[in-house]
Amino acid sequence: MKIDQFNFAGKKAIVRVDFNVPLDENGNVTDDTRIRGALPTLKKVLSDGGALIMMSHMGKPKGKVNAKLSLRQITENVAKALGAPVKFAEDCAKAQEAAASLKPGEALLLENLRFYPEEEGKPVGIDKTDPKYDEAKKAMKESQKAFAKTLASYADVYVNDAFGTAHRKHASTAVIADYFDADHKMLGYLMEKEVKAINNVLKNAKHPFTAIIGGSKVSSKLAVIKNLLDKVDNLIIGGGMGFTFFKAQGGKIGNSLHEDDLMPEALNVLAEAEKKGVKVYLSVATVAGNGFSNDAERKIFDTHNIPDGWEGMDASPASLEIWKKVIMDSKTILWNGPVGVFEFPNFAKGTGEIAHYVADATQNGAYSLVGGGDSVAAVNKFGLADKVSYVSTGGGAMLEAIEGKILPGVAAIEG
Ligand code: AMP
Repeated sequence: MKIDQFNFAGKKAIVRVDFNVPLDENGNVTDDTRIRGALPTLKKVLSDGGALIMMSHMGKPKGKVNAKLSLRQITENVAKALGAPVKFAEDCAKAQEAAASLKPGEALLLENLRFYPEEEGKPVGIDKTDPKYDEAKKAMKESQKAFAKTLASYADVYVNDAFGTAHRKHASTAVIADYFDADHKMLGYLMEKEVKAINNVLKNAKHPFTAIIGGSKVSSKLAVIKNLLDKVDNLIIGGGMGFTFFKAQGGKIGNSLHEDDLMPEALNVLAEAEKKGVKVYLSVATVAGNGFSNDAERKIFDTHNIPDGWEGMDASPASLEIWKKVIMDSKTILWNGPVGVFEFPNFAKGTGEIAHYVADATQNGAYSLVGGGDSVAAVNKFGLADKVSYVSTGGGAMLEAIEGKILPGVAAIEG
């Protein structure tokens, strides 16, 4: 079912949201982006005349009640954002009465789902090496189903709008969907937008399609790169991960970040890319520092010839000039990961330039998706978030989607 076609009038809807917002030491919300992200879905339920039950996790309480991670602390923020009072149920697994007494137009927030180990469904207090682990796992899967069934019993309809946890097969993100028929489960508006953005690049990309992959480690991006080799025309590899490639090619990389054990994989990526006709653009020169700090002295070196005592920390003008042309000629752009240590202002120039090129290419008609971790922080830092086509809200979920994995939260609804 599509949310836009559903009329919530007279129905109770249980909506999985991602209210895992940052709090300060006094429990005040320091950034309510995630609450605002869920508003279109939440408001649709209420304005149709439905009753709204919101459920979320916060932090990692590991299956135990933890007052510091209570969602009670954010009830007022949610009420303010919604423009409606929000009731609170102190125990998410014992909210039958609170849910039953909810009238059309009313809203209820359930306590942190992860106070119950059943939410994540991992057996507690037993090590994976224990011979009884499999048995414990099986028992936990059964309790997880019961927990999901209880949550499902509160409502007539299930909506999943928590993209941030879409890569998890948890009680509230996937298992619960089994207790609703196809006409009574749906993705929320935020989830729909995220899924569409993923499809725009992975399934319906216009060519040339360029992926810009940066960040610190090859190990965390290898699966992404491998999946993209079947889809992109151009692959720009920047940031710390580039140095594993240069070392593997026999270059001297000084003190630059690298992963020796991934050197064969790096060479493999280059060989595969060549076979598949993908053009790979590694950096040609780097802005290096004589220490890992913002105040380090800066010098530009050829990426295969960095002296000891120096480490590559930002993209050089020569690399940026080449990358700019590739990006500006693209019709689809996927950007994941900064091309330098952008947290240090003196080494943030390359990442800022990339953000501008992606924004300019978008202005010229390209579709651009920025997602999966620090590149989102980068477009925000340079004030360009509204100048790209879409900025993903889910770091881990977006990364797994780009790796080509099926997201359980989406599959549970769409099959
Ligand atoms: P990731 O989470 O893998 O996308 O990596 C993001 C991190 O990579 C950021 O914190 C950057 O500071 C870091 N990074 C990017 N380029 C470099 C580099 N040349 N050397 C060290 N760290 C880098």
